[in-house]
Parts: sequence; structure tokens; C-alpha cells
Amino acid sequence: MNKKVAFNTKVIHGGQQPDKAYGAVMPPIYQTSTYAHSKPGMHQGYAYSRSGNPTRTALEDALASIESGTAAMVFGSGLAAIDAVMKLLKPGDVVLSTIDLYGGSYRLFKQVYEPFGIVFEFVDMTNPEKVEKAISTNTKLLWIETPTNPLLNIIDIEAMVTLAKRYDLLTAVDNTFASPYLQKPLELGVDIVMHSATKYLAGHSDVVLGALVVKEESLAKKLYFIQNASGAIAGPMDSFLTLRGIKTLAVRMQRHIENAKVIARFLQEHPKVEKVYWPGFASHPNHHIAKKQMIGFGAMLSLVLKNNTEKAAHQFLSNLKWFTLAESLGGVESLAGHPASMTHASIPQEMRVKIGVVDGLVRLSVGIEDQNDLIADLNQAL
Ligand SMILES: *Cc1c(COP(=O)(O)O)cnc(C)c1O
Repeated sequence: MNKKVAFNTKVIHGGQQPDKAYGAVMPPIYQTSTYAHSKPGMHQGYAYSRSGNPTRTALEDALASIESGTAAMVFGSGLAAIDAVMKLLKPGDVVLSTIDLYGGSYRLFKQVYEPFGIVFEFVDMTNPEKVEKAISTNTKLLWIETPTNPLLNIIDIEAMVTLAKRYDLLTAVDNTFASPYLQKPLELGVDIVMHSATKYLAGHSDVVLGALVVKEESLAKKLYFIQNASGAIAGPMDSFLTLRGIKTLAVRMQRHIENAKVIARFLQEHPKVEKVYWPGFASHPNHHIAKKQMIGFGAMLSLVLKNNTEKAAHQFLSNLKWFTLAESLGGVESLAGHPASMTHASIPQEMRVKIGVVDGLVRLSVGIEDQNDLIADLNQAL
């Protein structure tokens, strides 16, 4: 689809055509493992559903369109998508990543891939000089997550791309927190965009699915080869649900962002709150970078209670009514979590505290409910 087409049109029409069989406007859920051949080797583009499935293709084409890529691959989960990227590497290769990255990514890197000889180094990526110093001849990939989870630091994507070009490195951005509504890393020169589509893309907390989107054909071929050879594909039903979710991404994001802005300001003023992490504050250390590379500041925010203890955090969480205590994010419903004991429990405590994931830290995924109801809920819980 033409690049000039607006994002809120692309989410509905990007990469989509009425189904060839009966003109169905939404692609049917092709719940089939295999396809009839008219003669040996002769089929209509699909031979076996690990290699390709029309419902999955419809989602992949939509993702390529909304991320300004040329090809997408979808997987059984976000982690399966990251796993496919790691398979581009070989023993001895070094991956450089941000310190405060998603706990599951950290676990996959350290506990699954490090024993195979791939090396992971962590650096404060908000500081490009530190990143440049950490690059060695074995460095192959910059794994970038921005905004970071759960502290909402913002990494300058263009600065990372500049370094990657200078040292001939691959770049990958985990774009889960922002969604392509807010930022499009491929347009900034990044090689691979990764998504946990489980979150904003699908948007309704009813599916687990991962995606990779790329621009360059040779990279698309390598990743497609890995997807088919390793087999961690997304199924047709989950592909359908994600595609359906994407249709409302633009309108959902608008409301998510409006609500988060009001809630961030409310919490900032509250006497029981010590600190609020949200890139929309002018006082946020990377606010200017967020302004440069995103069209809004997102709907994820974290707060530290004045009473910075696990007990106080647990009490606050159990007092909440509209915010459900749960892992995950990006759904229409508001969620709240305690990173130290939930999403980030697999990061050693010493490292956790060092990066700011303290016991009194609570992460909010602001949903699209009425903002006055959400504020009243937070107020009574505090
Ligand atoms: C949830 C999440 C993942 C992992 O995705 P799954 O779909 O749960 O496997 C990766 N990165 C970020 C930032 C996430 O929030």
C-alpha cells in the first residue's frame, strides 16, 4: 500500500483484500494443516500450514503495512519471535542490549542462548557513548527496547542506528510498548522490529502472539527460513484475532494515551506517591528523545509509593477495583502489576534494585475505560 496512506487507514486496509473464494471482507480462519495439490508439486500457493496459511498471511501483510516494512513473520508468542532473531547468530557473537529490558527476554538470553555460546552484554542504552564503548569486534546485534519496561526510559533509535552503521551491526527494536501507532523503527533505519502482539496490537487480552517485521529482502528470507525450519508459527485463530485487534489500534491508542496523560499528572500530584515514570513529563530525562521519535507518550507508566515497601505495594494493588492485578499490558482493560515479584522476578534482586525496580514500584497499563472512574479507583486505593 502507498506510503502516503494514513496510519488509521492502513490499520484497516493495509495488505488486505477480500478473500478470493467468496469475497469475505475478513479473511476466513483457514483452520487446516494441509492443502490439496492438483498434481504433485502443483498447489495454489499453500502446501502445508507450518510453511504458510492464508489467515496468517493476511496478518503478516497487515503488519508489514503498518510498520512500514516489506515482510512480516508471526510466531506463537513474542518470545518465539525473539528466539527466531537469536537464531541468526552463532557461538561467539555478542548481543548488546539495554539494562532494563523485559524479564522474559533477559531469561531467554541468559538461560537459553548463553549456554549455546552467544554472549549477552547489558549497557545503559540511553547513553550512546556507553554503547559505543561496549562495542567489540564480536558484537553483532544491538537489541533495543524502547520505551523500556518497567521504567519507561527512552533510547534514541536514530543514535543506535548511526552506531550500528558505523560498526556494521544488526539492529532490532522490541516495539511492544510503543506499537507502530507511536513509533516506526524501520523508518528510522532499524533492521528488525519485534512485537509481542499479545499486547497493544491484538489489544484485547485474548491472544498470545509474536511478530517480526523487516524491510530488507535478504533478512526476510533468512527469518522466513528460521520460522519454517524451527516451526514456532502462530495458528490461524490467533492470527485472525490479532488482525481483528489491529483494525482498532489507532482509535484504541488515542484513548489509551489521553487517559494515561491525565492519570500520570494525577499521580504526580498525589501525596502518597514518591515518583512517577512517564516519558510525557518535561522533567523525564529522555523527554526530548520521546518527542523526536514518537507521536505520543504511550499509556504505560510506573509509580513508586512514598512507603517504598513490598507490603505497601501489595496493599495498594489489592485495593484497586478497575485496575486488575495481572501480568501483561496493552489491552482495553486497565492492568496493574508489581514488577519485582511478577514480570521481573527472573532478574536477580541486586540487579533489579540497581536499575530502579524497587519493592515499592507499581506498573500500570492504562486502559480505555472512563478516565474519571480510573482516577477515582487509584485515589481510593492510595
Ligand atoms: C510481553 C512482552 C514480550 C514477550 O511476549 P510474549 O508474547 O509474552 O511471549 C517481549 N517484550 C515485551 C516488551 C513484552 O512486554
